[in-house]
Amino acid sequence: MSTDIPKLGWAGVVVNEGAEFTVEVQKLEVPEPSEYTPEYGTVSEMSNRSPEDDELLVRLNVTGLCMSDVHYMLNDWAVPKMSEMGVRCAGHEGAGVVVKVGANCQDAWKVGDRVGIKPLLDVCHNCEQCWSGRENYCAKANYTGLHSPGTYQQYLVTPAIYTSRIPDGVPDEVAGPIMCSASTMHRSLVESGLKPGNWVVFPGGGGGVGIQGIQLAR
Ligand SMILES: [Zn+2]
Ligand SMILES: [Zn+2]
Repeated sequence: MSTDIPKLGWAGVVVNEGAEFTVEVQKLEVPEPSEYTPEYGTVSEMSNRSPEDDELLVRLNVTGLCMSDVHYMLNDWAVPKMSEMGVRCAGHEGAGVVVKVGANCQDAWKVGDRVGIKPLLDVCHNCEQCWSGRENYCAKANYTGLHSPGTYQQYLVTPAIYTSRIPDGVPDEVAGPIMCSASTMHRSLVESGLKPGNWVVFPGGGGGVGIQGIQLAR
């Protein structure tokens, strides 16, 4: 299953990674789900799945901009450089449509399905953190835009098992930031034990994360 897919797609590529980085609009090769294996922990290595057959190629319509992207491009966190992992585009709040489906996941996915790309592109699915709904602590987590190509580009491959569906009625530009900033707030509100009628205060409520918290709490 596929649709018309160009050889090259537009991308916001990080140039001069570090304190003086810039983002340059360039054309990059559109990846093939069947050939793509991330430098950092291949899909098969992480969960005994075949990298040939269980990825989706997604055409993104939107990406959010998150401060973590800036840190990845500045390389001012204690994480390896994006470029060391062959990653040229940051970004982890994407929304778009499936344009190609790997052979083994065609029962679950079809061309045209709407999808969201989140900060974790994949996890191991097989550790205590993953089993207890805390997969953001998975030691083998594959970070989008750091370990694997991010959402500052038109075309991206993503493991079918860990790709989020976007329901009808939610526009792409709303769905994109839900992948990171609103999810962060959603989990903290769930864990806070707050009940309807309680007051809640968000320091930095006008920022990208806080504004999601206010809407969710309301
Ligand atoms: Zn983020
Ligand atoms: Zn895990």
